[in-house]
Amino acid sequence: MRRGRTFIISGPSGVGKSTVLKALLDQRSDIYFSVSATTRKPRPGEIDGVHYHFVSVDTFRQWISRDEFLEYAEYVGNFYGTPKRFVDDAMDRGQDVILDIEIQGALQVFGKRPDTVRIFIAPPSWTELERRLTERGTDSPEKIQKRLLRAKVEFQTAHTYDYFVINDTVENAVGELDAIMTAEHCRPEERMEIISGR
Ligand code: ADP
Ligand code: 5GP
Repeated sequence: MRRGRTFIISGPSGVGKSTVLKALLDQRSDIYFSVSATTRKPRPGEIDGVHYHFVSVDTFRQWISRDEFLEYAEYVGNFYGTPKRFVDDAMDRGQDVILDIEIQGALQVFGKRPDTVRIFIAPPSWTELERRLTERGTDSPEKIQKRLLRAKVEFQTAHTYDYFVINDTVENAVGELDAIMTAEHCRPEERMEIISGR
């Protein structure tokens, strides 16, 4: 059976990654979304095991020492990491996997698995990014400023990604992501069985 592909989605906090991915997963139920572990506290409405595995710093360190992460990083005062086993199980089942991770983690995954497809999601403007972060109402003004500063640094790495998607409307962004995932499966190396069988 064909193994699934891994797609990394990175982009500034508040750009709408979770919103867009939720809409994409609603329409493509065949995709596996990797649930990360984090030491950050849950936001209202976030469910343990669905949005994140919310763990203590001690537990996170244990998972690091047991080599359970495909990658992990610190982001604005908290740890975030991708549990390896679930990603590999999904790929073995032939499912495509989406990782919503920041740039340090993206670099680690790409270093280990160069066939990973990297997609950067950007806002239509900085003003709109600040508006979305503020309207979400989940972070203090101080945290919002830290996330915006981090966003500027992250933006400088955008050109190293394979694709650049702009989340102006959720519908457009989902359409572009869907198109990218479909196109990646039309590469000849993905269809070698057919090519070599003729
Ligand atoms: P991220 O996961 O990138 O941190 P979220 O998905 O939490 O971002 O979105 C941040 C805020 O922006 C949320 O309040 C969300 O409803 C809003 N949002 C997301 N995409 C759009 C969009 N295309 N247009 C307007 N608001 C959006
Ligand atoms: P948030 O706190 O807004 O949910 O996420 C903050 C940042 O952490 C986002 O850029 C998100 O993509 C990133 N992130 C979420 N899970 C992981 C992970 O497992 N690993 C890494 N490296 N980053 C993650």
